[in-house]
Amino acid sequence: MSEHETSTSTPSNFIRQMIDEDIAANKNNGKVATRFPPEPNGYLHIGHAKSICLNFGIGEDYKGTCNLRFDDTNPHKEKLEFVESIQKDVRWLGFDWGKQHYFASDYFEQLYDFAVQLIQKGKAYVCDLNAEEMREYRGTLTEPGKDSPYRERSIVENLELFAKMRAGEFEDGTKVLRAKIDMTSPNINLRDPTIYRIRHGVVHHQTGESWVIYPMYDYTHCLSDSIEGITHSICTLEFEDHRPLYDWFLDTLETASHPQQIEFSRLSLQYTITSKRKLTSLVDDGHVASWDDPRMPTIAGMRRRGYPPEAIRDFCSRIGVTKSENTVEMGVLENCVREALNEHAPRRMAVLNPLKVVIENYPEGQVEQLQVANHPQDESMGKREIPMSREIFIDKDDFLEVAPNKKFKRLTLGGEVRLRNGYVIRCDEMINNDNGDLIELRCSYDPATLGANPEGRKVKGVIHWVSAEHGIKAEVRVYDRLFNHPTPDSAKDGQEYTVHLNPESMAILQDCVLEPALACAKQGDRFQFEREGYFCKDPAVSATGLPVFNRTVSLRDSWAKIEKEAAKSA
Ligand code: ATP
Ligand code: MG
Repeated sequence: MSEHETSTSTPSNFIRQMIDEDIAANKNNGKVATRFPPEPNGYLHIGHAKSICLNFGIGEDYKGTCNLRFDDTNPHKEKLEFVESIQKDVRWLGFDWGKQHYFASDYFEQLYDFAVQLIQKGKAYVCDLNAEEMREYRGTLTEPGKDSPYRERSIVENLELFAKMRAGEFEDGTKVLRAKIDMTSPNINLRDPTIYRIRHGVVHHQTGESWVIYPMYDYTHCLSDSIEGITHSICTLEFEDHRPLYDWFLDTLETASHPQQIEFSRLSLQYTITSKRKLTSLVDDGHVASWDDPRMPTIAGMRRRGYPPEAIRDFCSRIGVTKSENTVEMGVLENCVREALNEHAPRRMAVLNPLKVVIENYPEGQVEQLQVANHPQDESMGKREIPMSREIFIDKDDFLEVAPNKKFKRLTLGGEVRLRNGYVIRCDEMINNDNGDLIELRCSYDPATLGANPEGRKVKGVIHWVSAEHGIKAEVRVYDRLFNHPTPDSAKDGQEYTVHLNPESMAILQDCVLEPALACAKQGDRFQFEREGYFCKDPAVSATGLPVFNRTVSLRDSWAKIEKEAAKSA
């Protein structure tokens, strides 16, 4: 463990090792400054969480800084709504940028000046090729490009044209400013990349209408890093081929600070997608209700579903940071959620598919208030009262007329079962309606069995229940994976990822009955509904005005089973 690792013992990784070496060599005077640079064109997702934990984690652990910087150079796709959601999500994940909050657009004037310097150095030119001609001139992976006919414009002419671009004298697409590097470079990114383009008629969320030219990402990013004095500019692997360009701009402009770009592999999660473009279309095309739909892999979606932020941080720490591409199983994330919730979520009883039970020997009108611990291991979480009365609900799945096998430990006709935290009951009679559907059970209880088995009495099964008179009605939404293909993003069958959407990704249960202690649950409160899973109170109410609870995660890992089945059928 290096001296820079904190007591939370974030596992080391190749980036932390590089930083350790830089500090040992007194590079950057031992300073560590990172940044998280989202583009405000969508909500953050689980992949961003990996980058946030990495960048902010390094900032914290090395007593350095981590800037939040919005990379806002594409105003037509960006919105204030996204800026605000990103701030909220980073904070919710548990990170703090302090005063280090920036927009790339804060530097538009400086970036313009840098571009003028490039022109003055003979390292940039205004080009009149249109988009199609640019593509032709660029060449391919196997063929070199060729020089633009505008490449040899004089410095004076370039300065004049660039000033006119800024002044709005040219139409969109008629001119760009390009870096003058090498049209024959084997790295296409170095074939005179565009650094400024013209965009009339867009209102930028930060700069309004003050600009009609906008700098490109590659140009903006390295210079923003340099302006902010970033030491380690950590990004995902697809930028590896852009690193020579990152370095070229800084070297050519001889900037005071030259951050080091370091790449790591993106997080991909099975059965989901982490492309912002595709997530946007899931929302815009109505495949999900919103960015914070609990099925979405967005941070807002996971929050609404009930994932605790510490579970997401724990997940990011467990998957580690490497340079190799891999797809992480959903079970890994869900196990982190389960572990966090198992420890902290109060226990409650909730019947999701109610079946009425009348306990015929229980006195009419009698109500007993049972004192029950909120958590089996954590006494500090206190107790609540659970009312017991003559009519209760149990779950339909907890009754079968005849046990199908020895493993079935629930209620059967003539059989006994213990009510969780309560009495042992026996089923004496089934009541069916005219269609022959079971609608009610008649049972009897043994008053000597409250909370314990009397001597010699063996009742194995325990089922949950709710008093019919006292229970509160609720809607419960049970989620399944959003896609039924492990890698919907890159499915090899050549089909659009949307064909892999799971049509059964959400089941709405509208007749649920919850124990009365849940009446005062607040939005975002998380519980274990015993034997059913972990659930979180949703901000919305149902169409019929009932409270809504989302199932966060099942009690056990069902992904292992899905994987096994998939392997069998493959
Ligand atoms: P997309 O490619 O889907 O548009 P993006 O990478 O362009 O997403 P940004 O807002 O630019 O999205 O991302 C901000 C930061 O988060 C970047 O540094 C990016 O590398 C990182 N990031 C984005 N997606 C992932 C991922 N799946 N895993 C790890 N880091 C990611
Ligand atoms: Mg990006």
